[in-house]
Amino acid sequence: QPVVGVLALQGDVREHLLALAEVGVLARPVRRPEELAEVHGLVLPGGESTTMSRLLETFELLEPLRARLADGMPAYGSCAGMVLLATKALDGRPDQHQLEAIDMVVRRNAFGRQVDSFEADLDFTGLPGGPLPAVFIRAPWVESVGGAVEVLARVPDQPVAGVAAGRIVAVRQGHVLATAFHPELTGDGRVHRLFADTVRAA
Ligand code: GLN
Repeated sequence: QPVVGVLALQGDVREHLLALAEVGVLARPVRRPEELAEVHGLVLPGGESTTMSRLLETFELLEPLRARLADGMPAYGSCAGMVLLATKALDGRPDQHQLEAIDMVVRRNAFGRQVDSFEADLDFTGLPGGPLPAVFIRAPWVESVGGAVEVLARVPDQPVAGVAAGRIVAVRQGHVLATAFHPELTGDGRVHRLFADTVRAA
């Protein structure tokens, strides 16, 4: 039975631990390098990517986490977690660390100019059971992806129109998954189940 960690420096850690438990996964918080070494996959929660980036350094997790990712550890980043996993973040702080686990450029707080927070039903490639309800909270979007990245979901034409429509909000590269939204807040366990399946398969 694989163990999935939730990076527990800042953000909505508890909600991810509960969502993982609900899909039958052994989940525990990860704050120290020893704890990171013991998990088979890691969730990077929503929160503030600048703060989390700084805390990764303070807690001496930055290099161990880079090493585990380079070694193929499955990971799933939601919102701020997506920002951290990217190669590059636009509108980030210049000293913000990027884990570079997914070859993509993200834009932080991308929807903010139009709407801070909203909900939408997404067509999510490979998920059974129809559209996925998604909650966006000061979310990033993905500006561009490299050739190895699979696009899993985009913003639908409604409720957010204009330049936001069609923007990429869920991606996968190998065993690393990222969503701009928060499936841990909706009670729909399908994204956590997808990640659990990835961890079991890895
Ligand atoms: N705006 C935050 C950031 O860029 C992410 C918000 C969230 O995780 N809900 O770090």
